[in-house]
Amino acid sequence: TESPKLDFIREIINKDIESGKHNGRVQTRFPPEPNGYLHIGHAKSICLNFGIAQQFNGKCNLRFDDTNPTKEDTEYVDSIQNDVRWLGFEWDALHFTSDYFEQLYDWACDLIKKDLAYVDSQSFEDIRAQRGTATEPGTESPHRNRSADENLTLFKKMRDGEFKDGEHVLRAKIDMASKHLILRDPLLYRIRHAEHHRTGDKWCIYPMYDYAHGQSDSIEEVTHSICTLEFDTHRPLYDWFIEKLEIYPSKQYEFARLNLTHTIMSKRKLLELVEEKMVEGWDDPRMPTISGLRRRGYTPESIRKFCEEIGITRFNGMTDMVVLENALRADLNKRAERRMAVLDPIKVVITNYPEGQVEQLDAVNNPEDESAGRRKIPFGRELYIERDDFMEDPPKKFFRLGPGREVRLRWAYFLKCEDFVKDENGEIVQLNCTYDPATKGGNSPDGRKVKGTIHWVHAESAVDAEVRLYDHLLKIENVADVPDGTDWKDSINEESLTVLKGCKLEPSLSETGNDFPVQFERKGYFIVDQKDSTAEALVFNRAVSLRDSWAK
Ligand code: ATP
Ligand code: MG
Ligand code: MG
Repeated sequence: TESPKLDFIREIINKDIESGKHNGRVQTRFPPEPNGYLHIGHAKSICLNFGIAQQFNGKCNLRFDDTNPTKEDTEYVDSIQNDVRWLGFEWDALHFTSDYFEQLYDWACDLIKKDLAYVDSQSFEDIRAQRGTATEPGTESPHRNRSADENLTLFKKMRDGEFKDGEHVLRAKIDMASKHLILRDPLLYRIRHAEHHRTGDKWCIYPMYDYAHGQSDSIEEVTHSICTLEFDTHRPLYDWFIEKLEIYPSKQYEFARLNLTHTIMSKRKLLELVEEKMVEGWDDPRMPTISGLRRRGYTPESIRKFCEEIGITRFNGMTDMVVLENALRADLNKRAERRMAVLDPIKVVITNYPEGQVEQLDAVNNPEDESAGRRKIPFGRELYIERDDFMEDPPKKFFRLGPGREVRLRWAYFLKCEDFVKDENGEIVQLNCTYDPATKGGNSPDGRKVKGTIHWVHAESAVDAEVRLYDHLLKIENVADVPDGTDWKDSINEESLTVLKGCKLEPSLSETGNDFPVQFERKGYFIVDQKDSTAEALVFNRAVSLRDSWAK
């Protein structure tokens, strides 16, 4: 296996190892908040954090950043673990920030005793209004000079549930004129009388992200705490806590988050789609969630490869969805077996093929992988082909079927269209054709050439299926382009799902237990829908189309 690209974070780690910082130890963590399902953006962070641990013989913990009781749920805790494992990673230790609540509380008391924290009894709005701006210093709170004893008593009462939500907060006492706005007496704790999915009603004060995150890193002795760029303005506060509490010196590094065209990368917005039933659920194949991508037919290998290809930088940008799709195509081109499936069937009757006769033709499962072997496909007098592989009055450049024209049937014979049958509405319902028995295997002994090769299935043995085709979730490239005052959900693509019924598949596709994608020749890569498909009613999802098809 080739070693990962050297990005700026790996460069820093190499230097840290060389200089003996952290005693040459490397430890990272992946810290999701269990308030939704993981998405492809999280996969970037997972591949980075777990990938670094693997590469440097280090450790990577999975830590649930569960400090916000009203939004979190065990359903999310379970799905996140499942998704990390599915992506191919295993954590060293599993932690919950809520396990550190007692320690975090004790440290807050230490800060109070050092005159580095105080209870403020103003509203959130007032506190925010006193923050100042980049050019104007903030205003000190009237409660800033409470004594340590008074603060300790009030803070204890906050914990004991003697106050209502919002009555008091605990703030760090740093500098209301600091050039770093984050250091202008940030909030450490707020009162929230809410049931927590793990601690129940034990706590009614909850630590803020900034107060909890760095200290959790420090408790676990994380060496390199990697987060996304928005947090670089938080770094001075991250360092301040570690310095003042004199705890393990974890260091924070920031990289650019993943943004992908035509989709959204925010759990809050994805939750809106789920709650408003604009998608079927978190694992709807149109969702950019790991579970949605899995159901869509994405492989862990393709997602890991994608994350490696896009690399790690400090510049925010947009990655084209095509890059993700191409990573899947590249993987499945090598590994997916080929099958034939007709999505929009029209009947073909081969008038010179003996009635009642069926023969088994030989087909290669995967031209990219000899070990995938071969299979037999039935062939007989009646077949289905794609409706759009025939034109009543085709232009010259149309190399498929038309009256009097000849094509090659994949793995079979040359087929010539003699005439066609229309129903009372003028729709073509049947093609009458002849085949050339001398062309078995796809070549003519007389050297006659045909330009087009089309796929087909044998009518009698074909299995029926529903096939679901997907398009972009968003009509626009970037949800950030939605003008203020308009609902971003107006840019949802109403045509993101097309359901095709009555598709005809070659019989081998009815085999059960198939959870790896296959290529439907000329149509793309498809996977059995792991939720809705049954032996009696097969359902396939298209993961991705083919870049180009071999017979158009
Ligand atoms: P969201 O806005 O979707 O809720 P989040 O950052 O709040 O994302 P967390 O659960 O806190 O979600 O994320 C866990 C980890 O994954 C964090 O370290 C975060 O930086 C990282 N992460 C989240 N979204 C992305 C993204 N789009 N690209 C790269 N990393 C991401
Ligand atoms: Mg977060
Ligand atoms: Mg979030």
